[in-house]
Amino acid sequence: MSYKNTVVCQHLHKSFADQPVIGNVSFGIQRGDILALLGPSGCGKTTTLRLIAGFETLDSGRIEIDGRIVAEDNFSLPPEKRRVGMVFQDYAIFPHLSVAKNVAFGLGRGPQVDERTATMLHMVGLANQGARMPHELSGGQQQRVALARALALDPAVVLLDEPFSNLDTALRQQVRREVKSLLKQNGATAVFVTHDQEEALFLGDQIAVMNDGLIEQLGTPEEVFQRPRTRFVAEFMGKTDFVPGVVNEQTIESTLGRLPLPQMALPSGTVVSIAVRPDDVALQAAEGVEMGNGRIISRQFTGIAYIYQVRLDDDSLIHSWQPHTLNLPPGTAVQATIRPDHTITAFHGQQAIWGQQASRA
Ligand code: ADP
Ligand code: MG
Repeated sequence: MSYKNTVVCQHLHKSFADQPVIGNVSFGIQRGDILALLGPSGCGKTTTLRLIAGFETLDSGRIEIDGRIVAEDNFSLPPEKRRVGMVFQDYAIFPHLSVAKNVAFGLGRGPQVDERTATMLHMVGLANQGARMPHELSGGQQQRVALARALALDPAVVLLDEPFSNLDTALRQQVRREVKSLLKQNGATAVFVTHDQEEALFLGDQIAVMNDGLIEQLGTPEEVFQRPRTRFVAEFMGKTDFVPGVVNEQTIESTLGRLPLPQMALPSGTVVSIAVRPDDVALQAAEGVEMGNGRIISRQFTGIAYIYQVRLDDDSLIHSWQPHTLNLPPGTAVQATIRPDHTITAFHGQQAIWGQQASRA
């Protein structure tokens, strides 16, 4: 498997002062792919990146870059020999050097340096800004200088550690689009570290969800969002509520109705929790004698939609995303159901089990 992957990490372990920080991390990145390393603060993302870059040494495991072993057992190639380009949160561009000198920093000397620098500045949209000093640039422009400097060396892999966290929200969206298109134009292989799931979904060809020094799931954005393998991933990847259920043969009985889980191998009577996201839940005002299965607690108007908060009869709290045309004031008794065709994920402890709602066409 390793020959077609530009970066291969196998069984990485790392402790600081006998405290394990990286448990047993393995992944591969195909050439030209962006891997988003996503997880809460302190889960080991930066350490993983620093191990790949060579700023930290492994306790055990192996790292290959472009078919070459760069770290293993007692062997560690220094960072400058690993063909990695780094982009940091705080840009780490040199304040006393001009934009052009920053970009040219690692290129050494020679006739091609000026040309290469000009090419890179042109690419990041700073063609005539080479003589300016970093403080004269906006945060977004400084981050483009950092990216130009990283790409100038034609690295085998670009490592980006929370590169947008110093930018304000509006600029962030723009800069992340620019960075993605620059990485893609260059066919760059990249590892992108973030704690922001939306950023990971936007940038990652693959997402590795990390928790407490381990990768809980590695897959496409769609896979990790729609088919979370663990309860942690379901909670971390988006607003997820949980509703209790009980297995009854190939179904789960719950306040939301009887949900089919065709290939389920759990004995009847097993207690599970059903993961429910706002887009999964259909709502109807309960009418007449049938008083529904819950009550509207509150609603938040987001402009294009309402997000309703519903207290179910079993006391669990769920959210439902509705068009602004559905007008149900707080206090309304409602019937909440899972939308047809939505995949249902339930959890037995930490572990996911899946099923498909039958279409009601
Ligand atoms: P993340 O980037 O996901 O926020 P880090 O990789 O920076 O997490 O840190 C993971 C854990 O390792 C944290 O508990 C952090 O305190 C610890 N850690 C990181 N670097 C060092 C170090 N040089 N010495 C001791 N502990 C460290
Ligand atoms: Mg970090």
